[in-house]
Amino acid sequence: MKEKKSNNKQDARDASQSFLGVGMEKIVSLCKRRGFIFPGSEIYGGLSNSYDYGPLGVELKNNIKQLWWKRFVQSRDDMVGIDAALIMNPKVWEASGHLKNFNDPLIECEKCHARFRADAEYPGLIIKIDKWEYVEDRTNISDMKITGKCPNCGVEAGRNFSSLKRFNMMLETYLGPVKDEKNKVYFRPETAQAMFVDFKNVLETSRQRIPFGIAQIGKAFRNEITPGNFIFRMREFEQMEIEYFIREEEWEKWFEYWREEMFDWMKNDLGLNVKDNVFELDVPKDELAHYSKRTIDFEYEYPFGRDELYGLAYRTDFDLKNHFKEPPYKEEGGEAFYPHVIEPTWGVDRSVLAVLCDAYTEEGDRIVLKLKPKLAPYKAAVFPLLANKPELVNLAKKIYDDLRKNLMVSFDDRGNIGKRYYSQDEIGTPFCITVDFDSLEKNDVTVRARDTMKQERIPISKLQEYLNRKLAGAML
Ligand SMILES: [Zn+2]
Repeated sequence: MKEKKSNNKQDARDASQSFLGVGMEKIVSLCKRRGFIFPGSEIYGGLSNSYDYGPLGVELKNNIKQLWWKRFVQSRDDMVGIDAALIMNPKVWEASGHLKNFNDPLIECEKCHARFRADAEYPGLIIKIDKWEYVEDRTNISDMKITGKCPNCGVEAGRNFSSLKRFNMMLETYLGPVKDEKNKVYFRPETAQAMFVDFKNVLETSRQRIPFGIAQIGKAFRNEITPGNFIFRMREFEQMEIEYFIREEEWEKWFEYWREEMFDWMKNDLGLNVKDNVFELDVPKDELAHYSKRTIDFEYEYPFGRDELYGLAYRTDFDLKNHFKEPPYKEEGGEAFYPHVIEPTWGVDRSVLAVLCDAYTEEGDRIVLKLKPKLAPYKAAVFPLLANKPELVNLAKKIYDDLRKNLMVSFDDRGNIGKRYYSQDEIGTPFCITVDFDSLEKNDVTVRARDTMKQERIPISKLQEYLNRKLAGAML
């Protein structure tokens, strides 16, 4: 994942108002109410910016990850996967430049010790910096002016604020029983470095030849000063990432190729309304990370504003050169060299958030989560018309047991049919199947589609086939 200088107004909003717009409240409320996402450690008052995926959230998240892995790894000849350790040798981060460069520029209120990003905007506090950059171990600033008041404690900012400080965003811990500098290690701030560090091992065991990619899904950690907006920016988050190794002269071709792949994924796999809600931002040259020749941010129109969803970067041969003294790639009869890299990065949690925001629909007082069937936690729900009629319940249970051998299916006999429909619509279940008295006579059931609310009578013997066809075609 790229590290560009952030100039993100959202950061400021997180810290100052520390909460969510109206649209987000509805998403957050649905997530909590229906078991998609809970505040982490809630019975102990929570933990800042930590969230847990609940029973439905883990299904949705796993569906996204499985779809991605199938599409980009298992269905391709030119891709292999890895699953690397979260904690790597600290030398990795020295070589990659993270120990030196993975910093937020901060100023601190010396009265209340609240810290603020120097490149963000806060209400009532004006930080003006012409230019800042890190050179070796020094921070060069030209002309920093702080006016206004501390947004946290209200003291005059000009006199009570520190000069610019660097704050490394890597999360530290210690391995082994002795807590000293020698044993200090870091949770990985990105998944990418493992693909570079394991490059030769993968090459030797997989017999891949460039162009080819190494893919990984996994957690990464960043000690962000201003996390926020629900699961949008968390200190612990998950990435789906590819390092695609190429010849330098072909970088533009492959950059374009991955740009289209990412777009197609958002449109056809996630089902996002890309026309209205997804935007491409070519990161300007002066904001690019120093190793990148070109970066595109895919931004999504979240309820709290337009912000980053995915990124695509051309990382040149920067990383392999950092890790390998000798060129690590050679083909028969050729000279060894350093392959160049195109890096598409997908945030898992941001995918979940974008999918939820995009799918959330209100029709009168009916809330419908119009998820692609492949993403929906349950593909169908089975109801007996009445819970107190054993013959209906037994047949419904039998249908439920048969279907769940192949699909995630839910069973519900609480309340009336209307309430059960409402409940399933809200979690995105594409089909509801009702067993009624006619079913006992005619061996068929009513199947109701989520989006159209149209109902059809389907023979029980054809039910599995019917669902498979509908789910594959994604037509509700
Ligand atoms: Zn203060």
